[in-house]
Amino acid sequence: MTVGALRETAKGERRVALTPETARKLVARGLAVIFEHDAGREAGFPDATYVAAGATPADAADVAARADLLLCVQLPPADRLTALRAGTAIVGQLRPNAAHDRLEALGERGVTAFSLELLPRTTRAQAMDVLSSQAAVAGYRAMLIAAEAAPMFFPMLTTAAGTIRPAKVLVIGAGVAGLQAIATARRLGAQIEGYDVRPETREQIESLGARFLDLGVSASGSGGYARELSAEEQAAQQAALGERLRVFDVVVTTAAVPGRPAPKILTAAMLEGMKPGALIVDLAAESGGNCVATVPGQRVNVGGVTVLGPLDLAAGAPLHASEMYARNLLNFAGLLVRDGGLSPDFADDLVAATCVNRVGEKQPQLI
Ligand code: NAD
Repeated sequence: MTVGALRETAKGERRVALTPETARKLVARGLAVIFEHDAGREAGFPDATYVAAGATPADAADVAARADLLLCVQLPPADRLTALRAGTAIVGQLRPNAAHDRLEALGERGVTAFSLELLPRTTRAQAMDVLSSQAAVAGYRAMLIAAEAAPMFFPMLTTAAGTIRPAKVLVIGAGVAGLQAIATARRLGAQIEGYDVRPETREQIESLGARFLDLGVSASGSGGYARELSAEEQAAQQAALGERLRVFDVVVTTAAVPGRPAPKILTAAMLEGMKPGALIVDLAAESGGNCVATVPGQRVNVGGVTVLGPLDLAAGAPLHASEMYARNLLNFAGLLVRDGGLSPDFADDLVAATCVNRVGEKQPQLI
């Protein structure tokens, strides 16, 4: 059996789904590993490092033609998958809601697709959880971008030129990305508060040495996720938050509800009430933004408040993002390979939950 990986071609994508480390582990399991020339170059893994791990370089068509299991970050364009054979499988973050027709077409050709955004957030799935590993990178980078763009130091400094007070930073949304953003701001010495609608995040925020900002609105949904707020809850949240926002120098927003556009939390009126020179970094820019003024990929200034909507945050730290992503895929591949061959066990809840194109079956959706 052969495991393959193509070079990622999406704009801004610098990660790779196979690293020399995971290639070596696959080879040790008796599998052949094939990769497209330069697949890992942007992430810091030259071809020679894969060859040293026992993998074979090839051109893209050759990789697709020979792979039984194709690993990717994003779903490759259709013209790079034409050589895939029936009976093979592809695994990645395939964005099934956006790529439904293409995934169905692959299914009809006998290529089974597994999209790891759909993994249940269970203990057994943790080692395969690409949403968590990549959100950690995104949260870290969002805070570094904030520190770089803020017109101030983050830590308190006592200098001959006087004492500099620490920056006051708020993180809205304390999931995996938000908690990593809080931890990063703490390391940089900021005075930090965190806010989330899930009450259990209070303890997680406080364990990082930050204060929990209590706005009196809680909205836990199913599967450990938040649910969308009702109109009344949203109004209550906005009224309480508007008052509290005035003190912050930097706000990093990471709020998300699975399968829904990002909740709009920061309104135009709130921006008006913020300090001049305040900075908002909206990590949710890709899914519509948590701030009304966010323009994906742009920096805008609204009445003296700067709003950044960075994209491709995880891809911006491609070495460690790829290392974690590739380990997630290696662990998931363990569920698909039996006796040296591709043999997905659809009775396994993780296999069944992530398969998005079984012909004749109802497909799972991002809820
Ligand atoms: P996410 O990216 O879906 O959302 C980010 C955060 O935004 C969440 O904490 C959510 O509560 C918050 N949010 C949503 N609407 C909001 C609003 N209106 N105002 C403020 N905050 C809002 O979340 P995630 O980081 O993917 O994690 C979701 C859950 O899954 C968490 O409970 C996390 O602990 C859990 N999780 C479990 C595992 C596991 O056990 N395998 C792994 C990873 C995450």
